[in-house]
Amino acid sequence: MRMTLGEIKKMAKEVIPDGIPYTVDLEAGTIAIITPTPDAFSEQGNSLTVKLAKAVRRRIVIRPDPSILSSEEEVLETVKEIVPEEAGITNIWLDPALAEVTIECDDPAQAIGPKGANLVELRNSLGWLFRADRSPAIESRTLNNIRRYRKETADERRELLRKFGTRIYRPKRSSTPWVRLTALGSYREVGRAMHMVTTNESKILIDCGAKPTTNRSETQPFFDAPELLPLENIDALVITHAHVDHIGMLPVLFRYGYRGPVYCTPPTRDLMTLLQQDYIKVSKMESGDGAPYSLADIETCIKHVIDVGYGQKIDISPDIKMTMENAGHILGSSSVYLEIGEDKNLHRLLFSGDIKYEKSWLFDAATVRFPRVDSLVIESTYGGRSSFQPTRQEATEELQDLIRRTLAKGGKIFCPVFAVGRSQEVMVAIDQLFKSDDFTSDPCTVWLDGMISEATAIHASHPNFLNRDLRQQVLRGGDENPFNSPWFKTVDSRQRREQIVLDPSPCIVLATSGMMTGGPILHYLQHWAPNDRATLAFVGYQASNTLGRRLQEGYSEIQLSSDGKSYTVDVKCDVVTIDGFSGHSDRRQLLDYVNALNPKPRRIICHHGDDTVCNEFRKTLSETFKVRAAAPQNLETLRLL
Ligand SMILES: [Zn+2]
Ligand SMILES: [Zn+2]
Repeated sequence: MRMTLGEIKKMAKEVIPDGIPYTVDLEAGTIAIITPTPDAFSEQGNSLTVKLAKAVRRRIVIRPDPSILSSEEEVLETVKEIVPEEAGITNIWLDPALAEVTIECDDPAQAIGPKGANLVELRNSLGWLFRADRSPAIESRTLNNIRRYRKETADERRELLRKFGTRIYRPKRSSTPWVRLTALGSYREVGRAMHMVTTNESKILIDCGAKPTTNRSETQPFFDAPELLPLENIDALVITHAHVDHIGMLPVLFRYGYRGPVYCTPPTRDLMTLLQQDYIKVSKMESGDGAPYSLADIETCIKHVIDVGYGQKIDISPDIKMTMENAGHILGSSSVYLEIGEDKNLHRLLFSGDIKYEKSWLFDAATVRFPRVDSLVIESTYGGRSSFQPTRQEATEELQDLIRRTLAKGGKIFCPVFAVGRSQEVMVAIDQLFKSDDFTSDPCTVWLDGMISEATAIHASHPNFLNRDLRQQVLRGGDENPFNSPWFKTVDSRQRREQIVLDPSPCIVLATSGMMTGGPILHYLQHWAPNDRATLAFVGYQASNTLGRRLQEGYSEIQLSSDGKSYTVDVKCDVVTIDGFSGHSDRRQLLDYVNALNPKPRRIICHHGDDTVCNEFRKTLSETFKVRAAAPQNLETLRLL
C-alpha cells in the first residue's frame, strides 16, 4: 500500500489520541514520531507504536523531541553515575541525528541492569535512547571515524533523512506501470558492477564498482550512458557489498553531483569507506594521476548512507520496497530483493549480489527464503561448464597440509588476498590448525599486510553479521576469539616489510591486493619469486588480464616496476592454487541456489562472469529450469514488466 506524507499524517491523527503532543517526521523510508512524551507511545498493553505501524504498514520509530534532550556533558556524567563500574565502559557514542546513545562496555548485562532498569532510568532522566553493546576485541579506526563524523554532521544528516523521506512519499504519477533493467557494468565481465532499474515512477542504481584491469578505459562503469543523467533523477543507490568491483567508483557519483541516499548494511558502510580510501592511495602510487575522486567525496558519500539491517523491509522510492538478506559472501554482503509496484502489477526482482551458497568459517549460506521472485539477476563467476570447486573443508585441509609441509622445510608462504573476506577466512583456517592437538611444530608468525588488520577489526565490531559459532567465539573473547591470536601480527611500516623479506625464518604473509594488481604483495613477490623454498599460494579468484592470472597460468618470468623503472623477475618459487576458499558459489552451488528458490523465477539474467562463462551459464539455466535466461551485454536494456 503506497502512501504520501499527507496520508501518513492523516492516519497518525486518527490513531493517536488528542492531547498527546507529537510531530510526524521522516528518516528516509522510516516514519519517525517525534514527541516530548515517548512513554505515551510505549505503555504496556496499549502500545500506540504497534497500532500506528499496523495502520500505516510500515516501520515506526519513536524519537524524543529535542526539547527533552540533555546536553552531551550531562549524558556522559549521568551514564557514569548510573551504570555500575563492573560494566567496564570503554566508549560512549552519541548520534544526535537520531537521539541515540551507544554505551560500549565489557559487560553489557551489567550496563543494562535487571530487566533493563539502568537504560530506562537513563532514558527517563536524559531523554536520549540508550543501548549497550559489548566492546569489540579490536577497535576499528574506520568505524570510530564514521561515528565521530556522523556526530559532527548530525544537523545536516537530519535534514537529508527528511529530504530523502519526502521524496519517497511523493504523490503518485498516474501512468501505466513498467519496469526495465539496464546493464551499466559487470555484464559479460567481472568488475565495475552497476545496474539500473527504471520504472514509470522511479530510477534506482545497484552497485557502482571499479574493474581490476590494466586497461584504463574499462575501469569505470558506463557513466556516460544517457540513462544515468541527470543524476538528480536517481531516487536511490543500493550497495550489495564492499568489494572494489561493487563500490570502487561510488564516490565518483558524488564528485559528479549525486546527492541522494546510499542504502547498505553497517559493515558494508565501514568496509567500503576503508577500501575507497585505500583505492585513492593505491591509485596514486601506481599511476601518476591517481583515483578519480578525493577523500572529500568519500566523506560526502558517508553522510548520505542509510544503514539497513538484514530482513528490514523499507520504502526506497514511491513504488519500490527493498529488503536486504544475507548473501554469505563477505561481511555485510547482501542480496537485494525489490518489490516494485503493487497488486496485479507487482514485480519482484532479486539481485543475488555475489553469493556463497555454502556455510563458511565466517558466514551462513546465502538466504534463499524469498516470498517469490519474478526476475533474478544472478552472479556467474563460477557458472562455466568446468567451474567446480572443492568444499570448504577440503580447501582447509589442503591449506593446512601446505602449511605443515612448508614449515617442515623451513620455507615461506605468501598469499595475495582481498583485505575483506578471504583473509579472515584464511586466518580462521590457520588459527584452527595452530590450535589443534595434532599440530606439533611451533606456530610461525602470520603477517597481515595492507589493511587486513583494520578489515579484521571491522569484522570484530559487527559480530551479529558472522555465523553463530564465530559470533560466540568473538563475543566470548580472550583465547577463543581467533582474530586475537598471538601469531597474527600487523606489518605496520616499510622497515618492518624490509625486515620480513630479508628474515630467513619461516613465516606466512597475507597481503593485498587479491589479484596482484598492486599493493604490498608485489614487494614480497619481487623478493621471494626467485626463492625456490617460497610458495606463492592463491586462495581467491584471479580475473583475466591481471598479474595474478598470469602467474597462475605458469609464467616463468614477469615484469614488475617500481619508482618508474621496470625490471624482470624470474619465478622459481612454487605456485599453488587452493580452490574452495572462494566467497563465490561454484557452478553446482549456483544451480542449487536457483533450485532452492520456491517458486522458480520466471526470468534469470546472468552477469558477473567472463564472456563465455556468462553465456554457458545462461544456457545451462534455461535447459535445467526451463526459464527465460539472458546474458546481456553492457548497455543493453531489458523490459521486465
Ligand atoms: Zn564480491
Ligand atoms: Zn564481485
